[in-house]
Amino acid sequence: MNNYPIAKPYITAKDKKGVLAVLNTDNLSLGPKYREFEKKFAEKLGVKYACAVSSGTAGLHLCMIAAGLKPGDEVITTPFSFIASANSILYVGAKPVFVDIDPITYNIDARKIEQKITKKTKAILVVHIFGQSCDMEPILKIAKKHKLKIIEDACESIEATYKGRKVGTFGESAVFAFYPNKQMTTGEGGMIITNKKRIYDLCSSLRNQGRSSNRQWLDHKYLGYNYRLDEMSAALGISQLEKLDFMIEKRRKIAGWYNEILKSNIDIIQAPVTGVNNKHTWFVYVIKIKGKKINRDLLIANLKKIGLSTKPYLPSIHLFDFYKKQFGYKKGDFPIAEEVSAFSLALPIYIGLTKRDCEYIIHKLLSEVIKLERK
Ligand SMILES: *Cc1c(COP(=O)(O)O)cnc(C)c1O
Repeated sequence: MNNYPIAKPYITAKDKKGVLAVLNTDNLSLGPKYREFEKKFAEKLGVKYACAVSSGTAGLHLCMIAAGLKPGDEVITTPFSFIASANSILYVGAKPVFVDIDPITYNIDARKIEQKITKKTKAILVVHIFGQSCDMEPILKIAKKHKLKIIEDACESIEATYKGRKVGTFGESAVFAFYPNKQMTTGEGGMIITNKKRIYDLCSSLRNQGRSSNRQWLDHKYLGYNYRLDEMSAALGISQLEKLDFMIEKRRKIAGWYNEILKSNIDIIQAPVTGVNNKHTWFVYVIKIKGKKINRDLLIANLKKIGLSTKPYLPSIHLFDFYKKQFGYKKGDFPIAEEVSAFSLALPIYIGLTKRDCEYIIHKLLSEVIKLERK
């Protein structure tokens, strides 16, 4: 039986060498590596500043603070995301106001944003889901018209573009994440990018216990956090960044194989669709089961039994218990997000998968779907 995990980091001898080199110094935190990683990351994204942090979630939290969000404020965002995006709004006491998603790209539906804007709305947290950009042109227009800040959760979509422009460069700040299942990894880690010096300076201080750069070690200017990225992780980030283009090309190739194989089965499975203005970078490859009688979770369990790891990407955030309790959200509030949540499935995607692997995976998937249909 073949065994396919859903994701796997791509770690080379060069990555290992870089991490080991750090361990041969006495500088395991706040050394030269995180600065080098920041500098190279900012250059790669074409922005002025990058601020390395301990996770994507930590980065989002700091961006919310830097945007000046407070209790009573409202932030418009998507219910179809990893929970960290909406949680970061809760961390500063603001209220996430969800807007249903576009049925094609699964990103926030720009056409439904304006009706949710109130006097309390201060920002839009866009989440570029699965590896492709939100429809940024109308969103930028709405933000300008209503004087709203834009913050980008780009954790799943590094190097994705919208009309040729990279995600992460549209808002006042943006966050990337480097957990081992992302397109590049540092183990745990994240990066904030911005063109605003004020935001960079503030985030830089907040991640390091609120210290200001020109003061003494035990002087604290703000209520800060320990959200620092250690030097081993930063070293891994530097060498991963060097091969990011290569790794994304590989992911595109695998997604292309899946797309091609799925073409002859469109009555059973909906392949992912890339928006016309988008270049996708494939954090995950998510299909949708078309047969509404099929128990998706049973399908996942059956696939697991034959060595195939798949995952329900993603549950809708508004239906988690504490969101329901705190905000009174219920089933039916965001029908498009809920429908995708109920029938979507992420397939294995990682460097090393061959076209034959993809054929095998789709073959097994189809036969398990058909078995369930017959029941
Ligand atoms: C991965 C991810 C994050 C941040 O994840 P961390 O595990 O904290 O690095 C945030 N938002 C989205 C949409 C993500 O996929």
